[in-house]
Amino acid sequence: MDEKKIPYKIYLDESEIPSKWYNVRADMKNKPAPLLNPGTLKPMTAEELAPVFCEELVAQELNDTDPYIDIPEEIQNFYKMYRPSPLIRAYFLEKALDTPAKIYYKFEGNNTSGSHKLNSAIAQAYYAKKQGLKGVTTETGAGQWGTALSMACSYFGLDCKVYMVKVSYEQKPFRREVMRTYGASVTPSPSTTTNIGKKILAAHPGTTGSLGCAISEAVEVATTTEGYRYVLGSVLNQVLLHQSVIGLEAKAAMDKYGVKPDIIIGCAGGGSNLGGLIAPFMGEKLRGEADYRIIAVEPASCPSFTRGKFAYDFCDTGMVCPLAKMYTLGSGFIPSANHAGGLRYHGMSSTLSQLYHDGLMEATSVEQTSVFEAAEKFARVEGILPAPESSHAIRVAIDEALKCKETGEEKTILFGLTGTGYFDMVAYEKYNDGVMTDYIPTDADLEKGFAGLPKIDL
Ligand SMILES: *Cc1c(COP(=O)(O)O)cnc(C)c1O
Repeated sequence: MDEKKIPYKIYLDESEIPSKWYNVRADMKNKPAPLLNPGTLKPMTAEELAPVFCEELVAQELNDTDPYIDIPEEIQNFYKMYRPSPLIRAYFLEKALDTPAKIYYKFEGNNTSGSHKLNSAIAQAYYAKKQGLKGVTTETGAGQWGTALSMACSYFGLDCKVYMVKVSYEQKPFRREVMRTYGASVTPSPSTTTNIGKKILAAHPGTTGSLGCAISEAVEVATTTEGYRYVLGSVLNQVLLHQSVIGLEAKAAMDKYGVKPDIIIGCAGGGSNLGGLIAPFMGEKLRGEADYRIIAVEPASCPSFTRGKFAYDFCDTGMVCPLAKMYTLGSGFIPSANHAGGLRYHGMSSTLSQLYHDGLMEATSVEQTSVFEAAEKFARVEGILPAPESSHAIRVAIDEALKCKETGEEKTILFGLTGTGYFDMVAYEKYNDGVMTDYIPTDADLEKGFAGLPKIDL
């Protein structure tokens, strides 16, 4: 097809919003390793997971066999408020880079929460409501997940208790107010409202918190409060499943114009947007129908894939959650407070970890000043002010496009633009003032985290 005909934005029709999520695990020969009960070291059963998670979500978590799972009509209807999201051809960025590469991005920031997190938040709130629960608890790091969940809970009339990593709580008061506007209660973590929070505070006075701490607190509250369950915005199989709407839409939009990406790039915190974006493409790759180069981008200050260990680890600092086999820096790892842009989790989705381990995708890490350079360049030519997390993907998309300029290759690059950065202006301010620094943990720093890995022989 004549390439000139590709519009700046490819919108799908409302009727083309997927009616089923795609479960990539069904096509994986080597399935992600199961969650283990930390006491027995046996795979967690649905019964054991039921006190923590909603029933239907447990079923999705454990489902390694069904390739497609119906999206309930209520969720499809909610998706219609802000989906399909546009697939944008970055003509202006291509021109600015003077590259023969063709760059596309799937933009997930077109909703009030400002990120892709709403895709899973609404699903999780729906299943909690369907089960007749009163409310849910969760953690939030940079705040996007908490915001998305607050929106979803208010839509279904559920109570929402958010434990927010303390450093973000202090740096992003406006995020907190958005959550409260949607009716959520927000507590800085670690806090004195839970036993585990008190323990962590006693051991690390003055800590700025971590996602791992906040998860422990949220799980404690969910499991000790009648009618509550815990929900998580990334890492879990069920979250990657919900996020497959991103990839399904992106692929449908590209297919309309006969476009095939050569390289697919996404930032990776816990792996949900990347897992969602690549899902249908990875499915083709696993079934031997097509090949794609897939790159996960992580911050050099929290390098789970590129410098972590593939091992069973706790998902939280308090070690109350099941063990997951993943690329991890150790549940005690807390990234430097100087690190601005999200993606602070110590571990990685076990689905993506297995795919990476099997050589089906690559990973790279980037330093934050170079990430903000890319963010600035992108904002100035494409108009959208990107979230720092998303800008990790922009950085590598630009680098790959510049390589094409050297070699003259006309590669097609697709990256995930997961959200907007309006609440990240403290970090942008640092960058604009020239006071942003890069921090890369030393091997000795990482060893401390690895020393806390559970000593199990499997
Ligand atoms: C949460 C978040 C991420 C990282 O989380 P993943 O689960 O790895 O996708 C990336 N970008 C934005 C805007 C986010 O809010």
